[in-house]
Amino acid sequence: MSIDLLSFLAWRPPAYICPRCKALHVASHGTFGDLPYQQKVLTVNDNVRSFLMRTVNRGDDWSWVCSVCDLEITREEREIWSKELRLGSYKDFHELISIASNFPPYTPPQKSQYEPLALLIELIGASRKFIHFMSYNIDSTFITALHIASKRTAVRGIVGRPLDSYTRALVDSLPRSDNFSIIVQDDRGTIDNNHSKIIIIDGIVMIEGSTNLSMNAFNKVSGVGRPPSEKPRVSLQPYEVMRDNNQYFSTNWLQYQTGTTASECFPLPF
Ligand SMILES: [Zn+2]
Repeated sequence: MSIDLLSFLAWRPPAYICPRCKALHVASHGTFGDLPYQQKVLTVNDNVRSFLMRTVNRGDDWSWVCSVCDLEITREEREIWSKELRLGSYKDFHELISIASNFPPYTPPQKSQYEPLALLIELIGASRKFIHFMSYNIDSTFITALHIASKRTAVRGIVGRPLDSYTRALVDSLPRSDNFSIIVQDDRGTIDNNHSKIIIIDGIVMIEGSTNLSMNAFNKVSGVGRPPSEKPRVSLQPYEVMRDNNQYFSTNWLQYQTGTTASECFPLPF
């Protein structure tokens, strides 16, 4: 009997992150990594292929190939950069889940006692692995919050239009950090408007909706001076979070990466 991988993935967090496109993967396709024996018999369809590293035979070894950007990672590279490739333990994720469950659909908007902005700031503060976001716009408040968070978590974001002059000056004056990468899109990339606003935290929480990362947008959500607009929604299903991360964030992020080999995409190993 086969097991539906989608229901299995519903509670399985990502295990690996591609060093180039930042796609999230649960395991390698050839071996299913460390999955238990009974999971070797799986229903694998196109929906889930992007969650699995492909494997290709290279002599006595297996290389992994990212199913989103086709980057090949040899066994030697996997060993050297194991820490960067693996997302590690998820034992502390309860805080993230409990904050996120205050968003719709888990809590109806009229029943939530928290402002969406307060919840988002709490989520940013609770991130321990990475924050990926796509937003049409971002203001200095969110740059500040994300930059503070980048002391503990990797922040990677794509913004769809030029920053306002104050926010631009703030970004330019912040110290450079590998943990804080904001791409402002130019004519090389175009964010699909339907999916231009997502925030993915640690690969297990995704916030989506029509809200940009700006105080103006969140004032609209709260209905300051007017009827409230659509509240952001969350997904806590890891397979949905991974799917949208890989399909929307990673394909856009890839357009701005210059490395062509795994060694060029990982940090120097010392
Ligand atoms: Zn990749």
